[in-house]
Amino acid sequence: MAKRTKLYEGKAKVLFQGSEPGTVVQYFKDDATAFNAKKKGTINGKGVLNNIISEFIMLRLQEMGIPTHFIKRMNMREQLCHQVDIIPVEVIVRNVAAGSMAKRLGIPEGTNLPRSIVEFCYKSDELDDPLISEEHAVAFGWASPQEIDDFMAMTLRINDYLSGLFMGIGIRLVDFKLEFGRIEDENGDVRVVLADEISPDNCRLWDAKTNEKMDKDRFRRDMGGVEEAYQEVARRLGILPEGGMAELEESDSEES
Ligand code: UDP
Repeated sequence: MAKRTKLYEGKAKVLFQGSEPGTVVQYFKDDATAFNAKKKGTINGKGVLNNIISEFIMLRLQEMGIPTHFIKRMNMREQLCHQVDIIPVEVIVRNVAAGSMAKRLGIPEGTNLPRSIVEFCYKSDELDDPLISEEHAVAFGWASPQEIDDFMAMTLRINDYLSGLFMGIGIRLVDFKLEFGRIEDENGDVRVVLADEISPDNCRLWDAKTNEKMDKDRFRRDMGGVEEAYQEVARRLGILPEGGMAELEESDSEES
């Protein structure tokens, strides 16, 4: 295979230049970090699972008209995407109190919120992704008012759609994080598209009956059963092959 140019290495993914101009390859690692990389570990098979889970979700969102950076899955750990200029604002959507919001506002984890709440954080590892308001994003030029309108409209549709999708397989979508990027279309117009990934790394997913956690909180809170939880999400989405992880890992090693 031709040597590729690495553009960036993040905590859970590596980005390489794609073979076509304007494309990138997202490589999904098994590395897991939490608390802004203060806790580090490995979740076996996570890269493969997040790759197929995120592919499945991005395709469903594209079908309902949400523009995304996703082009196609290339193999078990890589997907081809449009190169975007990432907007440094993380968009967090909450349906149930959990994590940092439950702690910050003293609301018991698991409380259903009276309405979905959208929060913005400034994407900065050095600053620990601080919570910001729309005013900060506009004042500091991180996103224009039009871009915020565009990604807010998409965010609310994505939340409605994914809440229903997960509820249909017995999973409560408690909260999740989205990232958006700018892309120039063939007419030279810049538009906002959904980027990054949607997977149990950046969603809180609870079993609808038992409230059992099926996401990265199992790793963050040393609860065990992390690999099994990610697999169960893929299984319920109907994308884990019949042979389970063994079959996925076999195709992973055949390709590499
Ligand atoms: N999240 C994420 N990346 C971040 C921060 C949060 O993917 O850098 C996700 C997280 O997995 C959860 C949601 O966003 O699904 C809300 O996270 P929260 O603000 O409660 O922070 P946490 O408790 O994860 O530190």
